[in-house]
Amino acid sequence: MTNIKNVGQCLLGSNALGKLPGIVAEWRSQDGFAAYLVDGFFEDKSLKARLEPQEDDLVIFLDTNEEPTTQYVDEVTASILRDRTEMPSIIVGIGGGSSLDIAKAVSNLLANGGNAADYQGWDLVPSQGIYKIGVPTLSGTGAESSRTCVMMNKQNNVKLGMNSNFSVFDQIILDPDLSRTVEKDQYFTTGMDTYVHCVESLHGQYRNLISDAFSHQALALSREIFFSADIMSDENRERMMVASYLGGCGIANGLVGLVHPPSSGLSMVLGIRHGLANCIVLEALDEFYPKEVEEFREFKKRNNIQLPTGVCSGLSDSKFDDLYEATIVHEKPLENALGSNFRDILTKKKLRGLFEAM
Ligand code: NAD
Ligand code: ZN
Repeated sequence: MTNIKNVGQCLLGSNALGKLPGIVAEWRSQDGFAAYLVDGFFEDKSLKARLEPQEDDLVIFLDTNEEPTTQYVDEVTASILRDRTEMPSIIVGIGGGSSLDIAKAVSNLLANGGNAADYQGWDLVPSQGIYKIGVPTLSGTGAESSRTCVMMNKQNNVKLGMNSNFSVFDQIILDPDLSRTVEKDQYFTTGMDTYVHCVESLHGQYRNLISDAFSHQALALSREIFFSADIMSDENRERMMVASYLGGCGIANGLVGLVHPPSSGLSMVLGIRHGLANCIVLEALDEFYPKEVEEFREFKKRNNIQLPTGVCSGLSDSKFDDLYEATIVHEKPLENALGSNFRDILTKKKLRGLFEAM
């Protein structure tokens, strides 16, 4: 039985970002400052002024050219404390899944000390982090509502999150105006992350009615978007924000399946971004998710999306070994998808065949 933890408060609508300064003012303690961690895309845009930061506040533009690593999260945490005698009282993450995850991890680290890698796993964060607000600018990962923040750990070749109730945002602001500037392929592949989460969860063995209900609704919205004429219309960007939020709630209370483990492998070993890696893996999994793979191909066709193929061609045996290790380490989702004997089904040879088909 899962004792469900959801986001504290959620504000949705065009120009909802305008409410952020007021919300920050409510939570600001007398001597604590606010730290805004913002996707680097917005550095030369007019966003900073809209945050109305006070003199003491910190606005850090994040480098999201690579998805978050434990090392980068440690660096951002250290940079917040540099030259300060007090802790921030609020952390605001603004951006896609990468920036939201960095904000969540930093909030946990500031309150608990230690390094990001110490808390990768399940329920290892000892206590509540700094009050955190999430503002997605790219929808699909569900990072705004999930109970994890995913980081690549290059020391042990594993991509893993801080899965914890303390990784859930206290407040989120869903403002569809913010995703208007996303490049279409990125919008499609990150948006597909919601679809993939829900499909994996609904096909899994560890399910519950609440997670299923979230997933069914997120899937219905995803289908409306991907089958429509303009997936990036104002209405569809708002729909995508809600689908992503609901998908994140679903996955927070359920588990992913057979797409995410190899997808983590592709990100870890070949540096392929999460949403794109999911799409590449999904397309190779006809055998496991036949109807959904067919539907995904239809989404691509309608939206004229071309994704890379042959991403593993020409890899050395040792790279295939790395891919295998970075995949098979994800025992919980694999067991959810295939049962406790998942290693007998997803053998090294079988997995290599799947990677070769991607
Ligand atoms: P991202 O955050 O990595 O961003 C991708 C690109 O989009 C970046 O170049 C960024 O600058 C750009 N971008 C973001 N917003 C933009 C905007 N409004 N206009 C123009 N460009 C914009 O991408 P993502 O797919 O949202 O996040 C991927 C990360 O999320 C991965 O690290 C993945 O592991 C993680 N993830 C987390 C969860 C979770 O539950 N915490 C779930 C799934 C994935
Ligand atoms: Zn995902």
